[in-house]
Amino acid sequence: MKPDLHTHSTASDGTLSPTELVTLADSCGVDLLALTDHDTVGGVAEAAAAAASFGIPFVPGVEVSTLWHHHSIHIVGLGVNYTDGVLDSAFARVGSQRLARGVEIGRKLEALGFPGAYEGALRFAKNPGSLSRMHFARWMKLNRYVPNVQDAFDKYLGDGCPAFVETVWPTVGEGIRIIRSAGGIPVLAHPGRYKLEPEHPLSSLVELFVSEGGRGIEVCSGSQSPDTERSIEAFARRHGLFASVGSDFHSLSGHRPRPGDLHPLPEGLDPVWRHIPGLSESFRSA
Ligand code: AMP
Ligand code: MN
Ligand code: MN
Ligand code: MN
Repeated sequence: MKPDLHTHSTASDGTLSPTELVTLADSCGVDLLALTDHDTVGGVAEAAAAAASFGIPFVPGVEVSTLWHHHSIHIVGLGVNYTDGVLDSAFARVGSQRLARGVEIGRKLEALGFPGAYEGALRFAKNPGSLSRMHFARWMKLNRYVPNVQDAFDKYLGDGCPAFVETVWPTVGEGIRIIRSAGGIPVLAHPGRYKLEPEHPLSSLVELFVSEGGRGIEVCSGSQSPDTERSIEAFARRHGLFASVGSDFHSLSGHRPRPGDLHPLPEGLDPVWRHIPGLSESFRSA
């Protein structure tokens, strides 16, 4: 199998439309695909239609932004109902929060010597309510203020950096409840990427996630170092969490893997696709 259960489109901060993303995934041999845009299911209907035309089994998904001890923690929801409006109302506030935060990020960048960032970043956002730090990073790269997007995060936009503006995202528990209210499976995204302090270690985050009703964890992720996988695998086993796999694909430029370009899950873990509602019977034993 070549599953990829974490990808982005222009509905949030990816650079490919949902149809372009599915077309690329098909050409990469992906045989189970989820679209998981940040705090929106706006691209899911288009992706589902494209996946149907290619015959790729498709999982409607989302990536919910949450906040835990001043860290942005992401929770992927797999198999969400995207047609009944439950998620649209859950995310109603997020668009205006993102725009208000964008104005503040713009002010901070201006003070650092980069004027016009808010307007510049907005031009990269197809859906303004999904304005993301990623759009600011792309604007900084376009203007040659940084050599690459990662540098923009490392120097200016990453959590705690000089142009970082904290947003009051939902709590981890609220994020899990949003996903469960839409019938989805909550999966802790790229746990190996969070730069947590010793007072708030990953083990505490995973315990909270489980106690609040989280069900899965990304063991293989394009946005965490492969060195972290062994410890994440151990968390999956200890807590009986379903194991997920996702490239976190955003764009063809950059260092992250292409859709589906991940190594297989370690033996003996319980793959999350066996539990996703709506997938055909063949995935229950895959
Ligand atoms: P936002 O939702 O606007 O806070 O931005 C989140 C986006 O920024 C996601 O696409 C992440 O992949 C990206 N991101 C956040 N922190 C980092 C980081 N330290 N390095 C690279 N990308 C990051
Ligand atoms: Mn993103
Ligand atoms: Mn994420
Ligand atoms: Mn992501």
